[in-house]
Amino acid sequence: MTVQWQEQVSLKPYNTFGIDVKARYFSQAQDDQQVRQALSQAHQQGLPVLVIGGGSNLLLTRDIDALVLHMASRGRRVLSDDGERIVVEAEAGEPWHPFVQWTLAQGYCGLENLSLIPGTVGAAPMQNVGAYGVEIKDVFAGLTALDRETGELREFGLADCAFGYRDSVFKRNPGRWLILRVRFALSHSLQAHLDYGPVRQRLTEQGATEPTAQAISDAICSIRREKLPDPAELGNAGSFFKNPVVSAAQVERIRAHYPGVVAYPQAEGQVKLAAGWLIEQAGWKGRREGDAGVHRLQSLVLVNYGQASGAQMHALAQRIQADILERFGVELEMEPNLY
Ligand SMILES: Cc1cc2nc3c(=O)[nH]c(=O)nc-3n(C[C@H](O)[C@H](O)[C@H](O)COP(=O)(O)OP(=O)(O)OC[C@H]3O[C@@H](n4cnc5c(N)ncnc54)[C@H](O)[C@@H]3O)c2cc1C
Repeated sequence: MTVQWQEQVSLKPYNTFGIDVKARYFSQAQDDQQVRQALSQAHQQGLPVLVIGGGSNLLLTRDIDALVLHMASRGRRVLSDDGERIVVEAEAGEPWHPFVQWTLAQGYCGLENLSLIPGTVGAAPMQNVGAYGVEIKDVFAGLTALDRETGELREFGLADCAFGYRDSVFKRNPGRWLILRVRFALSHSLQAHLDYGPVRQRLTEQGATEPTAQAISDAICSIRREKLPDPAELGNAGSFFKNPVVSAAQVERIRAHYPGVVAYPQAEGQVKLAAGWLIEQAGWKGRREGDAGVHRLQSLVLVNYGQASGAQMHALAQRIQADILERFGVELEMEPNLY
């Protein structure tokens, strides 16, 4: 059976930056069979394939001369429950936040700090999504992926994924693995992580001294809504740069000129710097070049005020990177995937 693909499709509704580029071909996959069908058809035609989920971690700088395959598979299920630990599985195309809310509604704890992250379940392992002191590696129970080189299914355990800060084996080998479904180990009892950012303070203000997982999720959602621009109103991809990890000696050099430098000690004498702080110090906060800009409240978030092209967004990002390197001697790495 040959599946008809749409041709010359605008990807504007499929990326949260709202960049208007075209896909030469576009198709959706609702299950494994449709994934295989699309890959095999593309292979026969010698076409590359770009797999996307919610498009919330993409910067599209040109028309995509490929088949863009949008993951639209749905399904979530409990695989096991021993009274304490529950393993749940969700298909790659499941929207992330509704999935998190579903687990909370069942009384399962573990994903509450990761509430309101845009995108899909299948993309979450790509950069080991994290927020408010929790990353998916902390609740990860495995995933099933299709090896696009051999066509074989492969199961990944925690160690196989090589998760790091906004990093994984999938991110380091782009195009190799197509994630079909992901499993999470959740719990009937809550282990609250409240010590990151204003979470504890927000709960205290609400009088929640012994908060439930749902209360933590609600607090995080309200903080995020205040802090981050809604892509439906202002195009963005969340944090645009990773927080750079540098040597302690480098931090001391920066501190000599900037005593207020924001730095978090890491393992092995390394130090993580707040990229947003560096960008703000360099005077980029709120700056706008045409329709490409740095958010007026969040210097880590680049925004598209309407008609910016991906190339314009990228050029702004590169100017910021060059300036931060010159001023602080620090290299900023982009978080979104560039195409
Ligand atoms: C307002 C806002 C806030 C955000 N906050 C956070 C945050 O707090 N923490 C955080 O970590 N991230 C955050 N992000 C980034 C983003 O939401 C996450 O990285 C999310 O997991 C991306 O999912 P997606 O489905 O949109 O992926 P896409 O943008 O569609 O794809 C991202 C990458 O994954 C690949 N990919 C997608 N699906 C699959 C699949 N099934 N198999 C293999 N590869 C695939 C794509 O090819 C691409 O390279 C934020 C983004 C926005 C816009």
